Amino acid sequence: MTVTDIRPNLHHWPERVDLAAAFRWTARLNMHEAVANHFSLAVNDDGTRFLMNPNQTHFSRIKASDLIEVDASDPETLSGPSAPDPTAWGLHGGVYRHCAHARCVMHVHSIFATVLASLADSRLPPIDQNCATFFNRYVIDDGYGGLAFEDEGARCAGLLTDPRKKVMIMGNHGVLVIGRTVADAFNRLYYFERAAETYIRALQTGQPLRVLPDDIAEKTAQELEDYPEQDARHLAELKAILDRENSDYAS
Ligand SMILES: [Zn+2]
Repeated sequence: MTVTDIRPNLHHWPERVDLAAAFRWTARLNMHEAVANHFSLAVNDDGTRFLMNPNQTHFSRIKASDLIEVDASDPETLSGPSAPDPTAWGLHGGVYRHCAHARCVMHVHSIFATVLASLADSRLPPIDQNCATFFNRYVIDDGYGGLAFEDEGARCAGLLTDPRKKVMIMGNHGVLVIGRTVADAFNRLYYFERAAETYIRALQTGQPLRVLPDDIAEKTAQELEDYPEQDARHLAELKAILDRENSDYAS
């Protein structure tokens, strides 16, 4: 039996399983925060329908069947028993409305990305291969304006218009990444947190940093963008580990 056969009554089953695995692993990496933060995945062409975690559920418990399917064009979405968190609705709905290239959105307050977002200068210099991956590939939001209800979500989404820039360092807040798929977005989120950790720990030494020249950083970023299937293999391995542990994420 394949995963697509287990829940034939729910649409987008393989996508649900991928998203559930991403939640479980994010919790394991301690990149979650209590019962806040959201991941979502567009499931129609214009991104007005998307899967999202249910409101106020710990990432470590989320199952594929728990994910809610939100319809951004339905005015009743924010009422009803399974309504999404209104800030998640504002931020994720805003990104799908404004960025056709965003199909998956992940937002967390992971520790090292948030430390970076708390510095007066939130740029991530290319001091190692992981940091170089993000050279010229992020935007910084300098205009934090409170919780991400609809207006704030639209403002943030307006910063993601360059399709090459798939990471938003949200000043005073956290990080948001976009991607083509769950695997693509999760891989980016994972590496961004690793890169931010390396940079913050390097700063803590007080020693001068080895900042790569721009041309080498750009070459490295392009080479990693062209590296075949790393994102899909990464997520497949995480699912294999969860499966071996008899996790219920895919139920
Ligand atoms: Zn947040």
